[in-house]
Amino acid sequence: MVRWSQQLIPTLREAPAEAEIPSHQLMLRAGLIRKLSGGLYTFLPLGLRALHKVERIVREEMDRAGALEVLMPAMHPQEIWEQTGRFDVLKDVMFKIKDRQERNLVLGPTHEEIVTDLVAHEVQSYRQLPVNLYQIQTKFRDEIRPRFGLMRAKEFIMKDAYSFDMNLEGVEKSYQAMYRAYERIFKRAGLRTKVVEADTGAMGGSASHEFMVLADAGEDGIIECEACSYAANLERAEGVSRGERVFADAGQSTAVVATPNQRTMEDVSRFFKSPAVRLIKTLIYLADEKPVAALVPGDRDVNEIKLKRALKVVALVLADDATIAKVTHAPVGFAGPVGLTIPIIADEKLKGYRGAITGANQADAHLVNVDLARDAKIETWADISNANAGDGCPRCEKGNLVAKRGIEVGHVFKLGTKYSEALGAGYLDPEGQRKTAIMGCYGIGVTRTLQSVIEQSHDANGIVWPISIAPYQVEVLPINVAHAPTMEAALKIVAELEAAGFEVLFDDRDERPGVKFKDADLLGLPIRINVGEKGLAKGVLEIKLRHNGELRAVPPEQVLATVQACAEELRTGVAVL
Ligand code: ATP
Ligand code: MG
Repeated sequence: MVRWSQQLIPTLREAPAEAEIPSHQLMLRAGLIRKLSGGLYTFLPLGLRALHKVERIVREEMDRAGALEVLMPAMHPQEIWEQTGRFDVLKDVMFKIKDRQERNLVLGPTHEEIVTDLVAHEVQSYRQLPVNLYQIQTKFRDEIRPRFGLMRAKEFIMKDAYSFDMNLEGVEKSYQAMYRAYERIFKRAGLRTKVVEADTGAMGGSASHEFMVLADAGEDGIIECEACSYAANLERAEGVSRGERVFADAGQSTAVVATPNQRTMEDVSRFFKSPAVRLIKTLIYLADEKPVAALVPGDRDVNEIKLKRALKVVALVLADDATIAKVTHAPVGFAGPVGLTIPIIADEKLKGYRGAITGANQADAHLVNVDLARDAKIETWADISNANAGDGCPRCEKGNLVAKRGIEVGHVFKLGTKYSEALGAGYLDPEGQRKTAIMGCYGIGVTRTLQSVIEQSHDANGIVWPISIAPYQVEVLPINVAHAPTMEAALKIVAELEAAGFEVLFDDRDERPGVKFKDADLLGLPIRINVGEKGLAKGVLEIKLRHNGELRAVPPEQVLATVQACAEELRTGVAVL
């Protein structure tokens, strides 16, 4: 029997100041985790129980999908990352260490290189393929901004799987199997997710989807169509601009207008009494250390991921003030495309822009009546801006796009042969020809998933656990532990429930009922049984369901059957959340 008094469940009345979002506050308040330092957390017993349950669901579904569990080292020789060229891409995110021989090692932020090296050694023949290897393991990332508790930590648990196939049909099959496994995993963990098209980023693949939990606290922007099923990460989303491109005085020649101290888009828009869409935003970047000007409509942001891809560069940063002054001959805030001598890349949504307003490349001045094609030398046209809410849908063309926020809990990628080629993961086909394996990779943030469940499922009083991952399914709460018949009845029901296979937390603390009830709500176990003198006098115990607050007074001999029925309902009904 698990007695609260002998557990470590340090509940808190107030949320520590550093916790900004509900799930982080609740994990701390319910005594599930504690912070060691920024981005580093200890799991306390109850948090660990819930985590193990998430891991178990992940494991069962991976096994069911035919993936094989392995466990790779968390620490890797740096050379293997250099072999694929990814050391340069990820070096800021990787924790780098040295052993006593001064050999360079890194703590793994992900494991494509390591698993591919393994397969390169262990797989020789087409008979051994396809194969999908997975692990549940700690990853390390030196995040720029660790925050929100387990959501963005420096050390976190990931399930990562890697598939190796012989042809594109095989990859598609592996990808679909993982996609479906992910749908089952999140559903079983009680999470509602939204699948979005994703950028393929540093992984360098061809197709990719993210599983998102919609939440205001989400760090990812999501764009979705009101009318059709199109949904994409903002990093990748395309929008069809409905903004105008030809403005009132189009056709006239450009003119310089004095705009003292009008630097931002808002300033300039107000100054000219023009909507932001009429302005052309000019940003100077250093792309692989060379200056380039990026142009987007004034009502949009540059999408640096798209820009990086369009420019085919590894490093992209906004230029420093000195560089801006040098290439534009003006202080920051007055850059424009006309007369620039550095390469210019313009957003496709600027095609046909006439009568537009830009910086004049001189201090305190802007240029009006700009006809982009006529007045500027555009080297490249590409989609380099973010989609905006209100844009047309690129898929159905009819619907409008809306913007949401999401937390990425899972990610599936088709990788192609980037890693298998670099590290020699191949096989001999039936004709004895050597071929390269085609890869897919599939990640779930296990610790992030756990916290996301709480972000999605809580109320003003505390956590509302889905029964599948609740630390315990039932809490038995004797209201007065000094009252012998109460304790007797409570212990009896605990024994019955445990014999029937339930996981029970017994709140045996000698505390005021109010304190115990508050803690019970905060902890949020799905089913609670209150045992009190008043009820016993009437021959009943009280069963309370956390998710809807429903109370049932039930004679002791019917408690087990009622709990079983409730648990079954909670397990099968998605209505729980
Ligand atoms: P993000 O964009 O949030 O930084 P990512 O795209 O870099 O994540 P992946 O490399 O796709 O992450 O990792 C697989 C999964 O690991 C993610 O879907 C996410 O759930 C989880 N994850 C990634 N970084 C962290 C982190 N710092 N803390 C907790 N979980 C993380
Ligand atoms: Mg990702």
